[in-house]
Amino acid sequence: MTYLDYQATTPIAPEVARAMHPWNEEKFANPHSPSRWGHEAAAAIEVARKQVEKATGLKGGTVAFTGSATEALNWALKGTVEKATGKRSRVITVATEHAAVLDTCEWLAGQGVDLTVLPVDREGRLNLDLLQRELDDRVLLVAVMTVNNEIGVREPLTAISEMAHKAGALVLTDAVQAFGRVELCKGPDLVAISAHKIHGPKGIGALWMRKGKEPAPLIHGGGQEQGLRSGTLSPALCVGFGAAAKLADERSTRDYDHVQRLWTTAIQTLGPGWVINGSKEHRYHGNLNARREGLDGARLIADLRDVAFSLGSACGSGSGRPSHVLRALGLDYKQARSSIRLGFGRYTTQQELVDACRRIAAHAILQEKLDA
Ligand code: PLP
Repeated sequence: MTYLDYQATTPIAPEVARAMHPWNEEKFANPHSPSRWGHEAAAAIEVARKQVEKATGLKGGTVAFTGSATEALNWALKGTVEKATGKRSRVITVATEHAAVLDTCEWLAGQGVDLTVLPVDREGRLNLDLLQRELDDRVLLVAVMTVNNEIGVREPLTAISEMAHKAGALVLTDAVQAFGRVELCKGPDLVAISAHKIHGPKGIGALWMRKGKEPAPLIHGGGQEQGLRSGTLSPALCVGFGAAAKLADERSTRDYDHVQRLWTTAIQTLGPGWVINGSKEHRYHGNLNARREGLDGARLIADLRDVAFSLGSACGSGSGRPSHVLRALGLDYKQARSSIRLGFGRYTTQQELVDACRRIAAHAILQEKLDA
């Protein structure tokens, strides 16, 4: 199997598996219990927290662990709205956001929140003039992702943060596809991340919160995370997240350069006839979303069972619905259907990528001939 679905999830790093092992076996204590074992587990969680915080590169805030980035995003959105006082009650987001943001925003709109979903241009980027026109003293929060999960496009977050802050609004970014892959923008007040996209375990995410901008709690109970998020933390998952973050931080230049080379290899090997979806310039190069006229992407995936790649987001796959991201770029239904997403990274070798891209290109040409 050649794994080319790095946006859906990433393979666990061996260092991460090793770091987690004792916490899955003999070190089972509750990190919130006062016993010596409990203290040891709590200390390991604090080390992990520092590792994640350091890897974000962000200053002036803290990380709270959550059960997923989806939870972190729900918390950031709902908790910020709940905490708001005065006349600020508007939320602005973008049409290409992940469902964890869009669906939560829609839910908030159902509760009476004034929601604006801004369109993107054909490159998949938010037009800053459009945003400027929407920013007024009623805007509470602007939520824009850092790197898009379907098309890899990077949003102009530094400018977005400056503009939003000038208007007195907070900024939330879904940095799930960016953390551990590209340098994070320092502007946002709330940043959601996930361990399993950086070679860590599934079932743990985090919300970085600028001091003083913490949202009201979403999950109530024991208040284990700084009184803001309840539930017994898993030392194994936290330690795994910390180890993955440390590794990503240490290897950042190596991983980044490797991904740049893989991108060039993939483009060259696929050959002519493919059009990249989204900006070529403003993007993370470990995500290659491309279309080919007449291609049936789903059929291609079925034909190449031993290569794992996808049509778009893992959450949207199987729904049968055309990708909302590709539609937001202005692609029609046929163009969206003819698109595939290849995701590669740290453990992808040049050779396996060449082999897989050759087969993808050959099958695409075969489809063309059969359908002619
Ligand atoms: N946001 C983006 C951009 C994602 O790609 C994902 C995962 O696919 C999520 C949010 C949700 O992350 P998690 O799986 O940790 O809930």
